[in-house]
Amino acid sequence: MEENVLLTGVGASPGIIIGKAMLVDRGRPNFLHVRLVSEEDIEQQISFFYKAIEDSKGQLERAKQEVRKKDVPEGEYIIDTHLLILQDKVLLNNIVGRIRDEKIDAAWAVGLVMASLKKNIDEISDEYMQERTSDIDYIEQRVLMNLAGKTVEVVTRVGENTIIVANDLSPADTAGFDVKTVLGFVTDCGGKTSHTAIMARALKIPAVVALNDASLTINSGDLIIVDGNNGVVLVNPDAQTLLKYRQQKGKYEEFERSLLRYKTLPSVSVDGFQVKLLANIEIVEELDTVQHYGADGIGLFRTEFLYLNKQTLPSEDELFQIFKRAAEQLAPKPVTVRTIDIGGDKFMSQLDMAEEMNPAMGLRAIRFCLKEISIFRTQLRAILRASAFGKVKIMFPMISCVQEMRRVKEILDDVMAELSREGKVYDPYIEIGSMIEVPSSGIIADLLAREVNFFSIGTNDLIQYLLAIDRVNEQVSYLYEPLHPAVLRLLRSIIDAAHAQGIPVAMCGEMAGEPLYLPILLGLGIDELSMTPIALLESKKILRSMDYRQCTRIVNKLFTFSTADEIRAYVTRETAGLLPD
Ligand code: PEP
Ligand code: MG
Repeated sequence: MEENVLLTGVGASPGIIIGKAMLVDRGRPNFLHVRLVSEEDIEQQISFFYKAIEDSKGQLERAKQEVRKKDVPEGEYIIDTHLLILQDKVLLNNIVGRIRDEKIDAAWAVGLVMASLKKNIDEISDEYMQERTSDIDYIEQRVLMNLAGKTVEVVTRVGENTIIVANDLSPADTAGFDVKTVLGFVTDCGGKTSHTAIMARALKIPAVVALNDASLTINSGDLIIVDGNNGVVLVNPDAQTLLKYRQQKGKYEEFERSLLRYKTLPSVSVDGFQVKLLANIEIVEELDTVQHYGADGIGLFRTEFLYLNKQTLPSEDELFQIFKRAAEQLAPKPVTVRTIDIGGDKFMSQLDMAEEMNPAMGLRAIRFCLKEISIFRTQLRAILRASAFGKVKIMFPMISCVQEMRRVKEILDDVMAELSREGKVYDPYIEIGSMIEVPSSGIIADLLAREVNFFSIGTNDLIQYLLAIDRVNEQVSYLYEPLHPAVLRLLRSIIDAAHAQGIPVAMCGEMAGEPLYLPILLGLGIDELSMTPIALLESKKILRSMDYRQCTRIVNKLFTFSTADEIRAYVTRETAGLLPD
């Protein structure tokens, strides 16, 4: 076993962890290439193939036992379907036939046969059959991983202190893990603002993403060090490296503890300029963390996770209970609930969502809600009812024009009238906000500001759309640049336009929680920053050491520079000593 294998990716959630890896590959293994084998190796390939089939069956049988204990009949049913595929004689013979006839290795034969099977199914326009391709994909990956000698147990339960290693993790995967037992995530795909990264930060566990082939290098049971601060993973470290990281881990944890003294201090600059610091949350279990870090409220409650990983859509009452709990627990501080942002890289299993060429620019967020009005209305009813129990605000994602916002308000008015008729209580003056995450809405911020009570800038998407950089594509993530002059100009014009209309501006994208950007955002006059709860105290510490007037001078000067690098160098120089390394 090779020692000290260093893998470099992108640090997606801070912290250092040392623990055992658990491989949960859901992505397509990339070891598929044509490999011809000699006559004498053919039988060996066939026996590898049958062994991989038996291993796969064993893993699925074990998963079935686990699922049975949890009393989830649907899970058992899915596993049975997968087992049936593995027992299909015609299919198995077909693969063995290709190994023999074409003298190719088992992995390639599996890939070829599965591909033609999926093609045949694709040609049948039966919805039920169409769904079967995902079962075939799943089995194909499982067999291929076993062929590659990677033991991949089905995740129904993760062991104590495990680090999940995967090609990719969908939000549904991450939502399904038992948070208390997962130490961290390591994935081949993704970027800093992909939802896996956001989820890791929400769960306060370190994560490194965009590692390319970590899931092929790391085996289940390997001891690994995950350094989410620097975006590196060390596989099978030697004693010396282990000691070094244990010390670093201790230091980092000490630093985190030292920040706790800022918890109850106000979030103001040296010269008294207030910037409220709020938290982004994905799941209601994070409320304690939000309070632990002394947030001024919740600036973004991403509600789509309430819809993922479920057999049926959540009912109005289920949603109401969740929002009510958040409103009550944080009152009188605000809870800003964002209506469902489904689509893009987040899918609902309960709905048949058409596959789109460009999901990020497709039927997502508010566009989806304006199509599936009953899902939208149910959510609005739940949010409004919860508004009777604390300070609730509503904001809408992906607004791209004024008409869209007006249509949303018509629906909201209608839902309010309906609740009134039913005698249900809600806050009739509930504040509504538009997310500014599509460049068009940023450009017409002055017009949009007349329609709402506040703005919240979603920089993750705004930068993606403004710079034409897919936020989950690691090939182009190096171009993702919050300090691009175009981004900064747009931010300035949004904030100025909103202030001219007398409404406040929050920022809830990842940019809001990065120390380097804080002096710029302060100088631009941002009113609120909403970020992952773990970043709150460090941001407060920095804010409390900054001078607002000095930051406005820095901002005025930075608009004279032409590139992000020049701006970064200038801001770093001007704020030296204030920012942590
Ligand atoms: C954003 O786009 O910046 C944002 C906060 O929304 P999400 O990351 O959920 O798309
Ligand atoms: Mg967004």
